[in-house]
Amino acid sequence: MPAQNEAPLLRGSGPASAILSVNMLKQYFYRKGSGDTVVKAVDGVSFSVQPGEILGLAGESGCGKSTLARSILRIYEPTGGQIFFEGNDITHLSRREMRPYRKRMQMIFQDPLSSLDPRMTIRDILMEPLTGNGIGGSNGERLLRAEAILEQVGLPRDALGRYPREFSGGQCQRIGVARALVTNPGLVVCDEPVSALDLSIRSQIINLLLDFQKELGCAYIFITHDLSVVRLVSDRVAVMYLGRIVELCPGAEISGALHPYTQTLLEAVPAQNPRLARQKSRPPVIGEVPDPASPPEGCSFHPRCRRAMPVCEKTPPQAKDLGGRLVCCHLY
Ligand code: SF4
Repeated sequence: MPAQNEAPLLRGSGPASAILSVNMLKQYFYRKGSGDTVVKAVDGVSFSVQPGEILGLAGESGCGKSTLARSILRIYEPTGGQIFFEGNDITHLSRREMRPYRKRMQMIFQDPLSSLDPRMTIRDILMEPLTGNGIGGSNGERLLRAEAILEQVGLPRDALGRYPREFSGGQCQRIGVARALVTNPGLVVCDEPVSALDLSIRSQIINLLLDFQKELGCAYIFITHDLSVVRLVSDRVAVMYLGRIVELCPGAEISGALHPYTQTLLEAVPAQNPRLARQKSRPPVIGEVPDPASPPEGCSFHPRCRRAMPVCEKTPPQAKDLGGRLVCCHLY
């Protein structure tokens, strides 16, 4: 049985109808130094995303979420496994062969300002993906499209002639959203799209993303370390720990998490009610994420797990389907 397994889940009928299907994906890096070390940033991950679905991808920093996203978008060359996008195997396509897929797979980055080229005007930033992907019959058509998407994200047309430094963080993220969606993609990876923003701006950007998703019908992979965000927006949630998915379940059922790691992440979510907040007496999680270059034997979470058993120190748990919820833990 593979270490990760795709549950017969919840929306669509599985990989055949999926916009994205990932099968035992591995992304290893080789660290030079005293004896070459292999860092298994993604280690045998399988899941699929249906058209129009929002899949939340949660976990602490260093768990492999962003690496997984970059492997899927072929920013990295995968070490092993397969990636199917709209039914086509894109795992080892060359840069040139990937070109037709680029306009259908887009990304929104965590730091909105640094993700925009400071030397380019907003017009150039929005026109570039259109020109590069051969979208629109003429420059005039492309400009109309750029103006339209700018208005849809809530910025005035005269913003086209300005530079990223002239905008606030929230406005820059609106431009990042416009740039990702101007090509009408089928899949957008949102990599911590609100974590660098002020609290007051976050819900505006999330609502903007949700409005676009409804209108365009595109699928999102929504990456975050914050389960309070992911459970609000996701149809399903996958929780990653040290390069693997340890739990995958419907977003509405994340509060009934079974995996001890997911439970500790949930405990770290600040309670809205001050009385409940005071009742949170247990520390949210024990210690730090281990170095992925030397993960613990057995279940890689066992040194931090409050429910660890002797078997956890030696034997890696296999994924089990518990009625639509995938869990990777010896307790089940
Ligand atoms: Fe904890 Fe063992 Fe489950 Fe790992 S397998 S999460 S150590 S109970």
